[in-house]
Amino acid sequence: MNSTEKQDIRSLDLPEITSFFEGHGEKPFRAKQVYEWLWKNSVENFDDMTNLSKEVREIMKNHFMINPVTISESQISKDGTTKFSFKLQDGMICEGVLIPTPKRMTACISSQVGCSLSCEFCATGKMKTFRNIRADEMYDQVRIIRDWAENEIGKPLTNIVYMGMGEPLLNYGHVLNSVEKITSEIGLGISPRRITISTAGISKMIQKLADDKVKFNLALSLHAANDAKRDKIMDINESNTIESLRTALLYFCKNTGKTATLEYILFDQFNDTKEDAKSLVDFCSGMDVKVNIIEYNPVDGVPYQKSNPESIRQFQSILENSGIEVNIRRSRGKDIDAACGQLASKKEKDIS
Ligand code: SF4
Repeated sequence: MNSTEKQDIRSLDLPEITSFFEGHGEKPFRAKQVYEWLWKNSVENFDDMTNLSKEVREIMKNHFMINPVTISESQISKDGTTKFSFKLQDGMICEGVLIPTPKRMTACISSQVGCSLSCEFCATGKMKTFRNIRADEMYDQVRIIRDWAENEIGKPLTNIVYMGMGEPLLNYGHVLNSVEKITSEIGLGISPRRITISTAGISKMIQKLADDKVKFNLALSLHAANDAKRDKIMDINESNTIESLRTALLYFCKNTGKTATLEYILFDQFNDTKEDAKSLVDFCSGMDVKVNIIEYNPVDGVPYQKSNPESIRQFQSILENSGIEVNIRRSRGKDIDAACGQLASKKEKDIS
């Protein structure tokens, strides 16, 4: 069996590794040992699994390989934000970002190469190439960014956001599997309370998250609270209307006991008027949500501008006067195209 025919062992879950060992006459507890080496210690070589006998390591080498994600390129912004181009197992590229602030070290990772959606304001949505990213590849992005934060900046990773390239809820199984590995005590052991999945808004999948009783946080990229405007900037709104999203979010908050976050990029004179703020207040009514207002980052070929400071202040105060918690998110990493919506803008030529 040559290496190209071997399966990457990290595509197997614990029960599958257990049955592999049983099928080879080995004790089932070997599977847990291997699982810990793979996900807690992130080894990239079977010979590093030092509590396994040489014979067991040889069996594994004969059947499997370990093919981790690697850094293809990294760029550091003037504000310290670091953007990574990750080379995936088939050579495709996705991007991730480390965002250091005084209180947090946040890893932003990708769930798809390109994106199956095509939001009007987003560089990723304009890419042609597309595939889902596997659970182990998402785990690797987190591990690599965590190690970078510790080794290069001397601080531990505090938060993980699935807000890079792609729509996580259209890669549901792998995304939840990656969270499982990142949070597991025999994985990276990071609390699910420090993880946020961000969606463009797939109502039935938001309800599924609630049914699956997830413990991580949910952010909805709303960007407009009436259908006519949201239709113009997000195709997904045609099949996932404002009303259906509101119903899904109410269900999510009620069934998980969590506060959801609404992400709202302010575009000059498009979604930043008093009427827009009032529509958003209506959307939030009776719901346990907070709002992140995000500064828009210019993307080549997109006809939107960022809102002026006065419009932002007015929008914020209408929400706050209605009792809604609002945070303003200033853009980071703009000079290296690492800011929200800019990922992949310079990469498509490399992978298409
Ligand atoms: S904003 Fe998110 S969902 Fe929309 S195209 Fe970009 S990556 Fe995809």
